[in-house]
Amino acid sequence: MNGIMSVILPAYNENANIERSYTAIDQILRNHNISYELIYINDGSTDNTWNEICKIAETKEGVSQVAGICFSRNFGKEAAIMAGLAHASGDVCAVMDCDLQHPPEKLVEMYQLWQQGYKVVEGVKRNRGRESGIYKAGAKMFYKLMTIATKIDMSRASDFKLLDKQVVNSILSMPERNQFFRASSSWVGYKKTEVEFDVRERENGQSKWSKWSLIKYALKNIAAFSTFPLQFVTVAGIITLTGAIILAVQTLFRYYVGTALEGFTTVILLLLIIGSIIMVSIGILGYYIAKIYEEVKQRPVYIISDMK
Ligand code: UDP
Ligand code: MG
Repeated sequence: MNGIMSVILPAYNENANIERSYTAIDQILRNHNISYELIYINDGSTDNTWNEICKIAETKEGVSQVAGICFSRNFGKEAAIMAGLAHASGDVCAVMDCDLQHPPEKLVEMYQLWQQGYKVVEGVKRNRGRESGIYKAGAKMFYKLMTIATKIDMSRASDFKLLDKQVVNSILSMPERNQFFRASSSWVGYKKTEVEFDVRERENGQSKWSKWSLIKYALKNIAAFSTFPLQFVTVAGIITLTGAIILAVQTLFRYYVGTALEGFTTVILLLLIIGSIIMVSIGILGYYIAKIYEEVKQRPVYIISDMK
């Protein structure tokens, strides 16, 4: 089976990486006689990314196609992936970062596995590239929670994947707005295999994720995929609970020393413990209500302002 491969490349402020990624992918796929279409999604970049995409889309037409989708603002990588999947016309879709941290050579191996009949080929990280200690710890905690929540081992998962058209259609048919591509592509099922890859160093520009955006991303995806959430009020509840325990110790101490009023100890303890549990619970409910509200609004996941 010799199908056309659509390669989906979300790009946010990547002007230095458009031409490079095109050249690298083109060379490899051409060498292996794989017909392809590249779809760049400009996720509301503030630099020259869109011009770069247009330049390639205009000049590089011929055997293979380069298409561009321009968002009206930054909608995030998940939305960019969804737009790419929705516009892909190939028999098989690959999703990869355009900073070349996902090695394009692997596309060939993935494609061959697809030819052997696998519908989902997941890129799993052999190493995690260079990351700071806090980042690593945070990522580890997030993946642990995600693994519990989704019952899929996510610790080495990445957005580097190859999906059969049938799988793409299944993902696109999921009506929720809060998609988490990494998890939904597992959730849909189908015959699956893995390809290991080494995360490369980013050569141009910088990572688009600040610590805060990563925390938000983690919380959002946990809530999107599970009923095992963490959130602000919950944290407040935990702090209250910690305070409650400290006060409890003090109250108990006073009780045993004999300086406490009769019966008062129990009242304080009950008040503190029940109070913090209620706070935690309301926090969790609040978070889910917010998510339901977002889904109910039925807003589009992204808005396209221009296409090439
Ligand atoms: N990206 C995007 N929208 C965003 C953030 C990132 O489309 O809001 C793209 C980015 O251009 C890159 C990929 O997602 O192609 C991965 O982003 P990045 O390299 O910043 O993440 P990291 O590799 O550091 O996890
Ligand atoms: Mg990167």
